[in-house]
Amino acid sequence: DERQILQFQITLYGDDERLLMARDITRLHRLEQMRRDFVANVSHELRTPLTVLAGYLETYNDHADQLPSRFARGLTLMQEQTMRMQNLVNDLLLLSRLEIDHRSEDAVPVTVDELLSAIRRDADSLSGGRHELSIEINDQRQLLGSEQELRSAISNLVFNAVRYAGEGCHIVLRWNSCAKGACIEVEDDGEGIDPVHIPRLTERFYRVDKGRSAATGGTGLGLAIVKHVLLRHDAHLEIESHPGKGALFRCVFPEPRLVEANDDHPRVQR
Ligand code: ADP
Repeated sequence: DERQILQFQITLYGDDERLLMARDITRLHRLEQMRRDFVANVSHELRTPLTVLAGYLETYNDHADQLPSRFARGLTLMQEQTMRMQNLVNDLLLLSRLEIDHRSEDAVPVTVDELLSAIRRDADSLSGGRHELSIEINDQRQLLGSEQELRSAISNLVFNAVRYAGEGCHIVLRWNSCAKGACIEVEDDGEGIDPVHIPRLTERFYRVDKGRSAATGGTGLGLAIVKHVLLRHDAHLEIESHPGKGALFRCVFPEPRLVEANDDHPRVQR
């Protein structure tokens, strides 16, 4: 619409001096909207052809014994890359949906220990027993939010720990009280991350090691998704890490998002 969007900035110079600046960001806002629409439309259009490709490749794979053996490697590669593209398209669509609105609509009380147990089961099967995963619950309150979005965000953190921490590592999922409210923490004792990368980790497609990340099947959008899900829950992400000393991802939820667990609240459907 034709509304003008202004951004205000107030700078304090001392006790009695301050500067108010107003900037017209209407054009910037429109460009950002165009970018979001474009990405969402392209991702949506790519879904059908990719589904057709994946379907036929699966059929060929079912009849692989009838194909000349020199095609076997190519078929496997095509299947892997098609799945990678499908993951990318799904993550792009999810991200553009999360970006449209900064507030989660379908907030219900989520029982965090059940949520973390479900994520651990998925992570256990992904890890194939190469990591030890444990859960610590130190807060009995429930979290008001979208169970689906929270599951997708925390799964991204746990799957990252499984993929990057290295074999034999210990991964802990925690629900803790903290000064600002309560936090879900995902901590591993793996390879860690150089702190210079930390401020940029939640940018789309930012990776510490591009080759390694692509090889693990990541889309480069995992932490951007986490950041947007948390924004929609009035929460934020804190990251602490050092090379060789593991990594800690902390999702901090403010008090208004927490409710005492009692039977009057509707249970989260699973
Ligand atoms: P990707 O699809 O590449 O995993 P993410 O946004 O999920 O994208 O993560 C961004 C980068 O952060 C990864 O490429 C990886 O280098 C780094 N990273 C994330 N989690 C961890 C972790 N637990 N340990 C070490 N590095 C990590």
